[in-house]
Amino acid sequence: MPRTLKIITDARRCTLCAKDLPTPPRPLLQGSKQSRILIIGQAPGSVANQTGIPWDDKSGQRLRDWLKLTDQQFYDPTILALIPMAFCYPGTGKSGDSPPDPRCAPTWHPKLLKVMPNIKLTLLIGRYALDRYLPNQYKTITAAVQDHKKLLPNKIALPHPSPRNNIWLKKNEWFTKQTLPALRRQAKSALR
Ligand code: SF4
Repeated sequence: MPRTLKIITDARRCTLCAKDLPTPPRPLLQGSKQSRILIIGQAPGSVANQTGIPWDDKSGQRLRDWLKLTDQQFYDPTILALIPMAFCYPGTGKSGDSPPDPRCAPTWHPKLLKVMPNIKLTLLIGRYALDRYLPNQYKTITAAVQDHKKLLPNKIALPHPSPRNNIWLKKNEWFTKQTLPALRRQAKSALR
């Protein structure tokens, strides 16, 4: 295992928005100088918040399947950086998890990305990541995901792999037929 970057240790101690969180801060992120693929998701869910392992739920299982990565590969920081839009569980609202705290990404992302020079592929998962990293370019996630040919090889937008999105996945079969094979090819190439 590589030595943990100081900035990761600092982020894991963050309490910036503690008073607005439903549970004590438990920042979940991983990465190293060697990381090749960056996954920018939304924020940890309640299961991950309990176990302390990012993407430790059904969404994570599906994401690993999309990428064709084993658990061991997925949790290897020399392979993958996991840097969501907020590192702590935000609680739940009327329809699913609450939005990620807006202070988290501007505070930590620039410092983290600066020390990860080997990222070859960035996966933007969900609306919040899309709005930060491809602002004003797409009206909907679907439009961004459909545009994968233009965004690859550096970035690709993905729908959230949550079971809540099963209807979207059923409605948009092109995602499984076209986008996933392209994503897997690109992930393989980023790891070469
Ligand atoms: S969500 Fe981000 S900003 Fe808020 S306490 Fe956790 S690490 Fe800090």
